[in-house]
Amino acid sequence: MVSRIKDPVWAEYVLLPAENGKAARVQCIHCDHTFAQSGSTRLRSHIIGGLGVTKCDQVPDEVVAKYSGRVTAVRNQPSILAAFGSSRVLTADAAVAEFVFEEGLAFAKVESPAFKRMLSAVSKCPGYSPPKRTRLSTTLLSDAFDRSKVKVQPIVDAATSSVGNTPGYSLCSDGATDITSRPLVNVVLTSASGNVFLNAHDTSGKKKKAKFIADLLADHLEALGPDHCVLVVTDACVPELA
Ligand SMILES: [Zn+2]
Repeated sequence: MVSRIKDPVWAEYVLLPAENGKAARVQCIHCDHTFAQSGSTRLRSHIIGGLGVTKCDQVPDEVVAKYSGRVTAVRNQPSILAAFGSSRVLTADAAVAEFVFEEGLAFAKVESPAFKRMLSAVSKCPGYSPPKRTRLSTTLLSDAFDRSKVKVQPIVDAATSSVGNTPGYSLCSDGATDITSRPLVNVVLTSASGNVFLNAHDTSGKKKKAKFIADLLADHLEALGPDHCVLVVTDACVPELA
C-alpha cells in the first residue's frame, strides 16, 4: 500500500464532505471559494495564481510567497530552526487541544473555516491580545452582523424575486431556548439559492399559541413579499396547536 504525504497547501483549505448525493468539495479558508476536490496543483494555483484557476483575492502576500517558491527539504536532515519550529508547533497543538477540551467544544470545531481564519489573522499579530468581552458583545458583534447581512442579502433577493430561475422560498419556524433560558421562535428562509436565518424572536412573557406564531410568520411574509413563498413549515408541539 502506498501512502501519500498530504501537500502542505491543504492547510489553506477545508474539506467539505460529500452530502445529498453531491461530491466532496474543498473550500479556501481565505475567501470561502469552493471547488471540486482536486489535486494539490489546482489548490496551489488558487493561492498563487495560474493554470486557469480563479486566483484567491483574499490570501495574504506571505501565504502566497510560502507556496510560490519551490523549497525542497533534505529528507531526514531537519535544520535547527525546523527542530525548534516543530517543538513550537507541538506546544501550539497542545494549547489548541486544551482550549477545545476545557471549553467543551466539539472536536470538529478545529476544522471550521472561521477557526482557521482566526488563527491565520492572529499569527500575523505578534503579541496579540484578544478583545475584551464588552467589545465582543457590542461593536464586534454588530460589525459581524452587518457583514453577514450584506453576505446573505443576495440569497434573500434571489429567493424573493422573479429574477433568475429559483422557485421561490419556504419559511420555517421552530421554538428554541437561548443560553439564558429565554424562549425563542426561530425563523429561517430556505431556498434553492441558500438558507438564511432571519430572526430569533424573544417570546418572553408571551404564550406561543397558534395565532401568535401565525401573526409572527405573517409579518415575515409581509416583509419578504408573499408572492414567492411556496411553503410555511412549523412544528406541531402542543402550544402551537392550541
Ligand atoms: Zn481563496
